[in-house]
This record gives sequence, C-alpha cells and structure tokens, in this order.
Amino acid sequence: MFYIGSHISASKGYEAMGKQALKLGANTFAFFTRNPRGGKAKEIDPADVEKFLALAKEHEFGKLVAHAPYTMNACAAKEDIRRFAKEILTDDLLRMEFTPGNYYNFHPGSHVGQGVDTGIDLIAGLLNEVLRPEQSTTVLLETMAGKGSEIGRNFEELQAILEKVTLRDKMGVCLDTCHVWDGGYDIVGDLDAVLEEFDRIIGLEHLKAIHMNDSMNPLGSHKDRHEKIGQGQIGLKAMERIINHPKLQGRPVILETPNDDAGWTKEIAMLRNLHS
Ligand code: FE
Ligand code: FE
Ligand code: ZN
Repeated sequence: MFYIGSHISASKGYEAMGKQALKLGANTFAFFTRNPRGGKAKEIDPADVEKFLALAKEHEFGKLVAHAPYTMNACAAKEDIRRFAKEILTDDLLRMEFTPGNYYNFHPGSHVGQGVDTGIDLIAGLLNEVLRPEQSTTVLLETMAGKGSEIGRNFEELQAILEKVTLRDKMGVCLDTCHVWDGGYDIVGDLDAVLEEFDRIIGLEHLKAIHMNDSMNPLGSHKDRHEKIGQGQIGLKAMERIINHPKLQGRPVILETPNDDAGWTKEIAMLRNLHS
C-alpha cells in the first residue's frame, strides 16, 4: 500500500481533516497538534474523533504523522523555554492517544550555542521525562537541514539522542528529503549509499515516515527552503526513485511543499502515478 498525503489544517477537527485528506486524494496526512507557533491546543471532541477513526478505517488510511509546533525547543538555553517544551510534549502525547498508534514528529531542537553534546543530553533528558511505557504513539525525530545550531543535521546526532532514550521502542525517525539534501546527503546522485549510511548508523527499521519536499537550494546548503515536487534541486526523477525504493515501502509519505489544495491534489496524483 502506498500512503501519501500533505499537511492539513486541524482547525475544524479530526473528521474534517479526514474528509479534506480524501478530497486531496490522500490516505494519510500531517497536522499540527496546536498552533505551529505554540500556544494552547483546542479541546478534543471524542465524538469527532470517533467519526474520524471510522472514516480512516473505511478508507484504509495509513499512520498519521502529527507535527509538534516548530517553535518548540527541547534544548533551549533558557529553562522556561525548555519547561514549555516539556508541557507541550506531555500534553500532545496525551492528545495523540485519542487516535492510537500514530506518529508524532518533532524537530529535535537548536542548541543555541551550548554545543551539540549539551543539546543532545537535554533532548534525550526531556524525552526520558515525557515518554510513558503505556503510550501507543511513536515519537519521531526529524532529520534537519542543519541551519543555525539545529541538532539532527546528520544521522549520527539523531542516533546519539536515540541511544540515550530509555523507552527506545517508542522512538523513530522521520526523513525529510529537503532537509537531508540540504544537510549534504546526496539522495539524487546515490540514494542507495545514503540509505546504507542511515541503516549503518540508525537502522532502517527505525525510519518510520518520509517528508517529501523538493529543495530550493543545492546539496549541503543547510538552508531548509522547501520547493514544489520536481521544481527544485532534487528533481522529479530522484523523487520517483525514493517512493519506489524497495527499502522505503510502507512508510507514510507527507508533502510539505509550498502549495494550495489544487497543488497538493496534483502532486499526490502525480506521485501515485509514479509509484509502481
Ligand atoms: Fe518538520
Ligand atoms: Fe519536514
Ligand atoms: Zn523544512
């Protein structure tokens, strides 16, 4: 089964997200658990969730890939910012249990001058405080482009976090094509080598989801500017190889391209066509 979708607005609730996904031709999607800039989350309506779960079952949706607010910084230098990250993570993981068994993706954080090792310790420390053995959600670390002091700029940094997490079976990785490309991994010239490296350092079984974005910038630019599929420096041929790679099958593919509904509908149809 090929699971593909885009980011969808969560403002009208779960059933509305499911219906919107179907309208786009999607069978998975991403959504922000709260305002992407942080802030208070909307109350969850169990009846709305019920309707969504029925719809997702009927249409054989794949796992959802929820996204934490991108302002959240688990390894900030200021304690109150880290405390805020803990509150968000704790609350979001409770909310995720309304739709059991899905993915919750977050940007590991920026060490803001404290150094990579301190950043990694803070991120793993926070995860050890908030993960619970009884949760059904898998928390994903996203591969980052490495702009500024971002942690997760290479596979080694992600693995260094994962190694320090006690409940490791609750953790996985989300590979963002724009970010790894900007981070210097040549998924255009040698996808096999990149996947072998991922497998050697992290293990491909821990790769749970893919963010599929083209990049405005060249390999290794550390910029993180997403482009529409096939219109950037990665190109459509490489995207086709990624979605058809035997080692990447079954993972939800999420578009975070600069688009409107018509644009995502087109990209989803195009990628479905290219998936053999
Ligand atoms: Fe992201
Ligand atoms: Fe992403
Ligand atoms: Zn990005």
